[in-house]
Amino acid sequence: MKIVRTIAGLRAALEPRRRETIALVPTMGAFHEGHASLFRAARAEADVVVASLFVNPAQFGHSADLNGYPRDEAQDAALAKAEGVDLLFAPNTEEMYPPGFQTWVDVEQVGAALEGVHRPGHFRGVATICLKLFNIVRPQRAYFGQKDAQQVEVLRRMIRDLDLELELHVLPTVRDADGLALSSRNARLSAEERERARALHRALATKDAERARELLRDLDVDYVEVADFDPPVLAAAVRVGNTRLIDNVILEGDTE
Ligand code: AMP
Repeated sequence: MKIVRTIAGLRAALEPRRRETIALVPTMGAFHEGHASLFRAARAEADVVVASLFVNPAQFGHSADLNGYPRDEAQDAALAKAEGVDLLFAPNTEEMYPPGFQTWVDVEQVGAALEGVHRPGHFRGVATICLKLFNIVRPQRAYFGQKDAQQVEVLRRMIRDLDLELELHVLPTVRDADGLALSSRNARLSAEERERARALHRALATKDAERARELLRDLDVDYVEVADFDPPVLAAAVRVGNTRLIDNVILEGDTE
């Protein structure tokens, strides 16, 4: 596996492989089994697997959240390598947002609901960085987790609206044995907070917004809503201590 830090370097590495199927897995690092499941799917379904590791400042509202975001590049590189990633693209902020940067993608309505209400500008940051990554890597396939259902919906809309030639592949949410969805932010939970956080999936598993709200009444809830995504989900965001957690369950069929 090669670690590449510049856009030019990544383009040069991909040049000889342009006739092959290229898969992209965009990430912010602090890898866990959720990320690994995306790497594995990409490895099984493409010739070249590119993972990006970039903690995108444009999608963070509070600098405390950005600065406190867990980072361990050496450990991430080892896991990516073990899962068969070919190229790990780990640029710095200047590389992605050079001085004078001022062009943004705003998926207006999908991006303004739910998470968008509580994190204004979040999906503008997500859509913009993903479009940049899609343009740099030019993958035929890109892999995302159902854990971030609204992110998937925003990207689906962007791909359609901007006529991108790209297949979106969405993988099921990977959970711990107690139901808590794996997240890089879980590392910040104390033992007591983690215990309280388990209520989130228990509540969503009812697949009933009102019952879920009832079960979450002791937590600091940002929203519990049915979202008319593809597929429809019951989605929620809660704060446990200083950590904000999101999760969702699919409301149709049996797969999550
Ligand atoms: P992140 O590094 O948090 O930006 O996540 C990178 C990708 O991994 C996104 O597409 C996420 O939806 C996905 N992901 C994060 N957590 C999980 C999980 N528990 N199960 C499946 N995919 C996940």
